[in-house]
Amino acid sequence: MRAVVIVHGGAGDVAVERRAAHAEGCGAAARAGLEAARASGDPAAAVLAAVCALEDDPRYNAGHGACLTAEGALELDASIMVGADLSAGAVAALPPHANPILVADAVRRDGRHVLFVADGAARFAREAGFAPAAPDAMITEASRARLADVLAGREVRHWAGNTVGAVAWVDGRLAAATSTGGTVGKLSGRVGDTPIVGAGTWADDALGACSTTGVGEAILRFNLARDACGRLPGATAQAAADRAIAAFGERVGGQGGLILVSREGEPAFARNTATMSWAIARVGDPGARGDADLAVGY
Ligand code: ASP
Repeated sequence: MRAVVIVHGGAGDVAVERRAAHAEGCGAAARAGLEAARASGDPAAAVLAAVCALEDDPRYNAGHGACLTAEGALELDASIMVGADLSAGAVAALPPHANPILVADAVRRDGRHVLFVADGAARFAREAGFAPAAPDAMITEASRARLADVLAGREVRHWAGNTVGAVAWVDGRLAAATSTGGTVGKLSGRVGDTPIVGAGTWADDALGACSTTGVGEAILRFNLARDACGRLPGATAQAAADRAIAAFGERVGGQGGLILVSREGEPAFARNTATMSWAIARVGDPGARGDADLAVGY
């Protein structure tokens, strides 16, 4: 088997002293994704395992520890897409659930709709067998403190950072997934790019797959994930990633980053922010060192 899993922990500006640990968290998630790929041969299982690991880690802005709305609530966004059949599932403004990406995947597998929002998303989740989480179990002191800083004007940021995403390639088949709490102090009902197919997440076995992060309003207007995949034919994955981020900056003044895998299994990432933690785990790849190769950075 050949498999590649690439993970991001959000475009932003992680404090210098926390950068190495932030990237290590992505490394653990990429390893979890690669193990799932090896066990199942399924790229969707790989991205779900990687994103669940990051949703469970309170340092990242997804699932446990996600950022809060102006009212101090969790409204969670997530999406997944599978490149073999272009199936997709997403939830937006989902009330507290431990792993929104698993609810998004249930939407995908159910197949009647692509995107559920707010109360309807919660109802779908309940009927699919997911238990809602107690808000206090998912809201951290750090996210409360961050909201207080934003509301008091002590922190002026256009987005939260620490959003998570994963892209997997397994023997030519692709999947991508992205999950976030959105932006700190967002207005209730705001939906960003993360749950929108084409903006936050895209996968097509004929092209490649991508997960994005950054200022959601700009990513939505630019359709960044689909744009990056559209630049793959005739280019290296790194050139496609770099060109997509450059155009995103030029056309809509966007700030952010993306991870990308081509249909040949070549991984790449690009950002125009100070940091974007990333990790690449691969097995059986000619570019890999040893049996299961892992690289991390920010
Ligand atoms: N793109 C996310 C949003 O706007 C935030 C992020 O990537 O940090 O909801």
